[in-house]
Parts: sequence; structure tokens; C-alpha cells
Amino acid sequence: MQPFEYVAPETLPDALALLRAHGEEAKVLAGGQSLVPLLNYRLAKPHVVVDVNALPFGDIASDDGRLRLGALVRHHQLEESEVVRRRCPVLADAARCIGNVRVRTLGTVGGSLAHADPAAELPAVMTALDARLTVASARGDRHVDARDFFTGLLTTALAPDELLTAVDVPAVPAHGWAVEELSRRAGDFAVVAVVALLTVDGRGHVDDVRLAFAGVADRPVRARAAEDALRGHEPTSERLALAAAAARAALDPPSDAFVSAAYRGMVAGVLCRRALARAVTRALETR
Ligand SMILES: Cc1cc2nc3c(=O)[nH]c(=O)nc-3n(C[C@H](O)[C@H](O)[C@H](O)COP(=O)(O)OP(=O)(O)OC[C@H]3O[C@@H](n4cnc5c(N)ncnc54)[C@H](O)[C@@H]3O)c2cc1C
Repeated sequence: MQPFEYVAPETLPDALALLRAHGEEAKVLAGGQSLVPLLNYRLAKPHVVVDVNALPFGDIASDDGRLRLGALVRHHQLEESEVVRRRCPVLADAARCIGNVRVRTLGTVGGSLAHADPAAELPAVMTALDARLTVASARGDRHVDARDFFTGLLTTALAPDELLTAVDVPAVPAHGWAVEELSRRAGDFAVVAVVALLTVDGRGHVDDVRLAFAGVADRPVRARAAEDALRGHEPTSERLALAAAAARAALDPPSDAFVSAAYRGMVAGVLCRRALARAVTRALETR
């Protein structure tokens, strides 16, 4: 690592003052599961590392219809929280897919969203959930919708002096849900992941549906064409296959050192159909 100054502010105003003073030269440290490798490889060379772990953003709160996740909520808290399992179980399923036990013990919701790895699960879940992110700076708070937050590869709408403090998600227990992914080895980032959320009406037809992919572009991708192909229809296996084909057709996934674009597209279609089938089963059970 290139040497840096380490600071661990105990209050939000102190943290924000440090970020304002150092701007691009500062890096926030949360769980360190992405930042520390970047420091080790000298891909990040901050002059100052601002450790925010003493700030009071580690809780999960619920009120009418929403869950508020503090930015320092660890991935394992999402897996283990009773309120998350009851009110927004897709978050628990997604967290379970992340890395390994060590990564899930230390890594945070805010870190995952701010790092914005295009193959990460939580950015895709927040995109499917239409989450709202709260961002603080010395200028005050602002809110950013998940669909506007991820702006490119490892890039977000955060300015250098801003800190992500919380994420609000609608609690959607009535939805059927599924997270499906393929990774090359257990614990690896997904080659492709898909998140499905779905409700059915009294006639058994699809009512609300949200689908989002990770691993298929430089940011999470909402599959609007597939959603449109499902909404208002009976979720027969033919209809689910048609929607998955629509999702696949709308993607233009990249090749990398491990898999080709064609393979990634094929996997996206298969996982989408599986996720929809599982979400429909759960939606019918909870109706
Ligand atoms: C072996 C391994 C496997 C992994 N597998 C997966 C996987 O399968 N899926 C997956 O999604 N992730 C995976 N990860 C990454 C993991 O989820 C990280 O925890 C996450 O990406 C970053 O969270 P963190 O809290 O560790 O953030 P840090 O590493 O501390 O920070 C990451 C970046 O976000 C910034 N940041 C952090 N918190 C804030 C904040 N509150 N406001 C503004 N900026 C902030 C930091 O400055 C830094 O740029 C893996 C990591 C490892 C080491």
C-alpha cells in the first residue's frame, strides 16, 4: 500500500468535514472488503482514509411499509435479521449469495452500493426494489433513487465529499421473490445474477413485477421489456419463457477473460426463467 493518514471520526459532522477538506484525496473505509484490495494493488492511492465504523449507521429499522438500512449494516445482518426475513426476504437471499463468511461478516450495505461492482448482488436488488439512498455531505442530505445512483463501472452519483448513510427499501412481503445466480466457484462474484419480485392478483395474473440483472453490463440493469411481457398475464410456463426471452434480447452483455458475451446472455435467459418460476410459486403461496 502507499502510505496514508488514517482517521476514525466519531461523529457524522466530523466525518463530513474530513471528506470536505480532503475531497478526491480521501477514501471512506467501511468493511474494507473492496477498499483494502484496491489499496494493496495501488489501484486506490488516497492520502487519507476515513474509517466510518464508529458512526451510528449499523441498524435496520422498520416502519409502515419501509425498511431503513443504515449504511454500515453488514451483509450477515441482512441474512440473519428476523425483520428482513419477514418484511423483505429478497434482501436476505441476496446477502447469502455474497462472497464468503468473512466477506459477509465485514462487508457493508453502503460499501457494496458505493463500490458499485456491476456483478454485485445488492445493487441489483436495490434497483429491483426501487430503493432510495440517503447521501450526506457538509452541504446537507440529499436522496438518490437506486436507478440514478449507479452511473457506470465502479462509478456512482456520489461526489467525493459525500457519504452514503442509509438506504430505504419498500417492505414487500406480499411479493414472491427469487435471487438466482451462476458463479464459477462458490464464493466468487456472479457471472450473472438475477433478482425477481412479483405479485399476482385475485385471478392469478401477474400484477406488480420487477426484474433486475447483475453481471450483464457496467451497472445493474432493470429488465423492463420482460416486466411488460408479464404484467397482466397469467404466469404460465410459456409466458415466463417469453418474458425471459424478452429479457435476454434486451441485454448486450460483455465478454471477459472467463466467459463470452454469448454465454453470459444464454445464462441470463436461463436464470431469468428460473427466478420467475420460483417467484411465481412464492407469490401464489403468499396470496
Ligand atoms: C473474496 C471476496 C469475495 C467477494 N464476493 C462478493 C460477491 O459475491 N458479491 C458482492 O456483492 N460482493 C462481493 N465482495 C465485495 C463485498 O461485498 C464488499 O463488502 C463490498 O463490495 C464493499 O463493502 P465494504 O463495506 O467492505 O466497503 P469498503 O471496502 O470499505 O469500501 C468500498 C468502496 O466504497 C466506499 N464506501 C464504503 N462505504 C461508504 C459509504 N457509506 N459512503 C460512501 N462511500 C463508501 C469506499 O470508499 C470504497 O471506495 C467480495 C469481496 C471479497 C474480498
